[in-house]
Amino acid sequence: MEAFEYQSNPSRIVFGSGTIQRIPDELKRLGFSRPLVLCTPQQTSQAKLVSDILGGKTAGTFTEATMHTPTDVTNKAVQFAKELECDSLISIGGGSTIGLAKAMSFRTGLYHLAIPTTYAGSEVTPILGETENGRKVTKTDPRILPGTVIYDVDLTMTLPVTLSSTSGINAIAHAVEALYARNGNPIINLLAQEGVEALAEALPEVKKDPQSNEARSKALYGAWLCGTCLGSVGMSLHHKLCHTLGGTFNLPHSETHTIVLPHALSYNAPKIPSAMASLAKAFPGCDGDPIKGLNTLLNTLEVKRDLKSFGMKEEDISKAVEIALSNPYWNPREIEKAPIQELIRRAWAGEDAK
Ligand code: NAD
Repeated sequence: MEAFEYQSNPSRIVFGSGTIQRIPDELKRLGFSRPLVLCTPQQTSQAKLVSDILGGKTAGTFTEATMHTPTDVTNKAVQFAKELECDSLISIGGGSTIGLAKAMSFRTGLYHLAIPTTYAGSEVTPILGETENGRKVTKTDPRILPGTVIYDVDLTMTLPVTLSSTSGINAIAHAVEALYARNGNPIINLLAQEGVEALAEALPEVKKDPQSNEARSKALYGAWLCGTCLGSVGMSLHHKLCHTLGGTFNLPHSETHTIVLPHALSYNAPKIPSAMASLAKAFPGCDGDPIKGLNTLLNTLEVKRDLKSFGMKEEDISKAVEIALSNPYWNPREIEKAPIQELIRRAWAGEDAK
């Protein structure tokens, strides 16, 4: 066995149905009594549910969480938190809301209890991406990691089917890249394979019956495992490309991950035999070919497969290639201009990965 290093991220996880009712006990255990609740404008009813469960005993609610964590929103929220003299933060929502709470917690030291409602996985990572002057910058610091995560399957029932699918593929992408990370290790490999398997089984079931507790539970369980992978080991080509494409062309987060993943995996495939073998076990009925397994899953989920549908122009392909090549990073296969151009072109056009 090869030598390895493993660093766990110390957060408390509460998982189940109806677990949102545990908030008062969790706060009591921690000694907090004036949490500020955070959400997006679309999830104010879930924020109200938090406040109701606490019998109205919150410092207040901030409802302006925004995708890609713009720093002007964070500054406004930090000011609001100071005025209200809150003693902790509760984020309820997807990666956008959790990102805001992470940014606030990092600046102020306030304790962060996260209640995720998508499959993005941000709640279990010490990573924060923030946007200032149109540029998204990522930092990693143990102080960014939320202290407690309450996974309540019931809250995911309202996640629209298409977003459930793309958010689930976003989670799978974390595990796929973890399986070939330079600083990978056996624990993370186990979590990654289990996470992909859970999501690959659950997502078609969620599409068939979005109210299925069993399918939603399995999807959320898989998302937790995949998020844990993202928080523990380095990501490469796929995540860097999505970061570039999302940031430069303002493409939506989970949809971009969904479109790019099969192409990025196909690019790296010749150099990652052991990851391909693990993934072959994780995708049901893929005949030993994870790229086929991923293509089949995406076709079953009937998600959009082309970046042009989200407004990327054909002439943007060369710009994306330039940016992707200008910022060197480790990847199992060398980043070469012509095949990267072809990868992005295929993702733009919506062609199947081979
Ligand atoms: P999101 O948080 O932007 O949510 C998308 C939309 O769905 C929002 O309008 C939200 O209010 C709504 N929504 C969320 N859950 C819902 C539910 N259960 N029912 C109904 N509506 C719901 O999307 P996301 O994909 O979760 O997060 C994307 C953001 O998170 C990006 O900015 C990305 O960079 C970041 N992210 C960060 C990390 C990290 O580790 N730092 C990891 C993953 C994603």
